[in-house]
Amino acid sequence: MGFFKIFKRKKNDKYKLGLHKTRESLGTLNEILESSDSITDDLYDQIEEVLIMADIGVEVTLKFMEILRREQIDKNITNPNELKEIIVDEMFNIYLEGEVVKSGIDYNKDDINVYMFVGVNGTGKTTSIGKLAHIFKKDKKKVLMIAADTFRAGAIDQLKIWADRAKVDIFYKEQGTDPSSVIYDGLMLAKKEGFDVVLIDTAGRLHNKVQLMAELSKMRRVIEKVISIGPKETLLVIDATTGQNGIKQAEIFKEATDVTGVVLTKLDGSSKGGIVLSIKHLYNLPIKYVGLGEKIDDLVLFDIEEYIYGLFSDFFCE
Ligand code: GDP
Ligand code: MG
Repeated sequence: MGFFKIFKRKKNDKYKLGLHKTRESLGTLNEILESSDSITDDLYDQIEEVLIMADIGVEVTLKFMEILRREQIDKNITNPNELKEIIVDEMFNIYLEGEVVKSGIDYNKDDINVYMFVGVNGTGKTTSIGKLAHIFKKDKKKVLMIAADTFRAGAIDQLKIWADRAKVDIFYKEQGTDPSSVIYDGLMLAKKEGFDVVLIDTAGRLHNKVQLMAELSKMRRVIEKVISIGPKETLLVIDATTGQNGIKQAEIFKEATDVTGVVLTKLDGSSKGGIVLSIKHLYNLPIKYVGLGEKIDDLVLFDIEEYIYGLFSDFFCE
């Protein structure tokens, strides 16, 4: 595919900075390749270990190693440094897997675009809603937040703070109200007042799968009652620092509801950035946005090229 070749142009410092921890763990890959004279089983073992440490996941790593070995033989490569190009190109292929992955979220200017945020408590749902509201607001969209996390004390106030920061409207009721009733009334308001974007914050309760499914499908039904096309996207928020645990959450939520994409937060504090590849490969869930910090501007569109460049920029030093 030749992705490696186009990389000299890539330079989004935000990504590079945000991915520094994961890059440090993958950085040893560069050292390993630079310091090896030949390609041996021992070298392959070392590469495998580094990828597992970066939380690319066992399944993806094993598949990747198989491809790497095959490519090395096919292309008759004997110099370890030349593996770099294959490593980068194959990382792309694993993410893309033959399909074109659309970047960003679905938006239609003629609809009320409803985005529902789901995920475990503390992953960054409320924060990401604040940041996304800011993005839409800058784009001159009329944005409404709906505070449907009525379970946790302080959750509504936290969303209000983000609504203030992003200078958008918020609909809320008292703590303890049935989330579906908040959603219903909030959407009625959005419809009446012609909002373009509605961001729904939900509680991150992962009590058990049956209850989770019931709760999420009730919310979805209510959305469909008011806006017949339903939510434009259901975004699962995953904390990148939780690594394999985050991958497990992807599995549970994907079974419980129709998740359309992932917002991967806290990539800035994580050395486990490799989970991007696992989530896409195992559950076919594309990453839509990544959180690279706590500030309002720290949510950026996921870009596979920037991402892989951020991970492997050591490879490209002259
Ligand atoms: P929620 O329970 O899912 O709504 O999670 P919150 O939005 O309350 O976020 C939990 C914590 O994670 C807060 O302290 C946020 O500031 C922090 N957080 C969220 N996203 C990011 C991110 O991308 N980077 C960093 N470093 N912290 C984040
Ligand atoms: Mg919250």
